[in-house]
Formats: sequence, C-alpha cells, structure tokens
Amino acid sequence: MQPPFNWTCPYCDRDQSVTENNYSTGEIFFQARGTRGSLGLKASIIVCANPQCEKETISATIMNWGYWNGPRRFANNKPIKSSRLIPDSRARPQPEYIPKPVRDDYDEACRISDLSPKAAATLARRCLQGMIRDFCGISERSLALEVRKLRELAENDNAPRGVSFESIEAIDHVRKIGNIGAHMERDVNTIIDIDADEANQLIGLIEMLFHEWYTAHHLREERLDNLKKLAANKLRIREENTNQIDPAVDDDQVENKDL
Ligand SMILES: [Zn+2]
Repeated sequence: MQPPFNWTCPYCDRDQSVTENNYSTGEIFFQARGTRGSLGLKASIIVCANPQCEKETISATIMNWGYWNGPRRFANNKPIKSSRLIPDSRARPQPEYIPKPVRDDYDEACRISDLSPKAAATLARRCLQGMIRDFCGISERSLALEVRKLRELAENDNAPRGVSFESIEAIDHVRKIGNIGAHMERDVNTIIDIDADEANQLIGLIEMLFHEWYTAHHLREERLDNLKKLAANKLRIREENTNQIDPAVDDDQVENKDL
C-alpha cells in the first residue's frame, strides 16, 4: 500500500489518511533457500496521527521474491503469511461505560482467537452472557434460557431499548454455527470444537452488540443530558434577564409618577 490511504487506528479507533510522514516500510530478501523457495520479509509501520495517541502499528508479510525484468522484487500477489505484530490483538478500544468484566472477556477473546479458538469462543460466550445479564437484566441458569427470555421480552415489546429482533436473531445465528448451539444449551463454560473463523464471528457479534446496546444507549443519555442542560441554561438566562429588567420597570414607573 502506498500513501496516502485511509486507515483506522487500532488503538484509538480514529479514522485518518496515512501519509508519508507517518508511514514507512522495509524489505529483507533472505538468501538462504528452503522448500518454499526465495523468501523475504516486508514490514511496515504506521504511527497514528492523532496527537492524543501517536502509537505504532507494525505489520509484517512473508513473501516469495525473484528477479523480474532485472531487479529482484516480491511476488506481490502471493503473501505466505501476513500478520500484525503490534498491537497483537484484533480488539478494538471499547468505552468505559461498558462493564469492565465484559470488556476484559472481550479483550482476552480477541487476544487468543487465532491461537486458541476454543478458549476464545468460551470467553466470547461468557462476554455475551455478561452483556445479557448487565444490559438486559436477565439472569437464568444458562445462556440459552437467557436468550429465550430476551426473545419473549422482545415479542411483548418489553426488551430494553436498543435490543432489536435483528440482534437477537444474530445471537441465535451464531449459536447455530457448528456445535456451539448444542453446547450452549447446557453450559456457557463448556469447551467445544471450533475454528478461528467461528471464534471471530462470535467476537464480531459482540462488537456489534457493544455498539447497538451500550454505545447507542450512552449517546441517547448524553443527548438527553445535553438537552436538560440547555433547558436549564435558557431558564437561568431568562431569570437573569427578568431580574435585570425589573429595576428598569420600577425606574420607568418612578419617572412616570414624577411626570
Ligand atoms: Zn491512534
């Protein structure tokens, strides 16, 4: 990728255009050859342009190289492995109004989703359960029962604001992936077979619900709060103006009386 290009910082979540000032790359062409042929390493660093962040994101790609039209260069279309070195987790920064135990489970699930999808899925499901208990106020003996209860509430129009049928459907959809559904019926902490893609789908659902539930709720509260402050401020200004006008009115009356 050549700058400028659009990018979102994984630390502060700020969208930005990456320029040559905060981006650089390096290339190594290894001479030793194994069964994979001539290998090389292409690495890049992006420094976040947000002055409050300025953190580094470093990625590396292993590729084959060869001589094409004279100079040696990478076979650009065939990366053998591409990986972000730091930050080493796909976790996106989450706001503090989401309960810490829920955020911690999410962070850890992201950190291990490639290395141990089973453990990541277990954490992701616990995170999902924590959200249903905290945000929806539903606590049953299993996640399956909690989801069922949530669906009942939604059908009776009593689900917490922001909990849509679509999000409940999404939870159900993820529950149906592989063996997750069957095991979720029994115990949220049961470890089952799952691959990295499935674990990432669970994590993706959690991110969606963070946004639809907590962030939407927070923004609504914030807007209402601002509206309240605005109204109180207007009232205060009106009262101040009234107090200033009153003496003037008295003066007028005094003047009129003199006339
Ligand atoms: Zn940043």
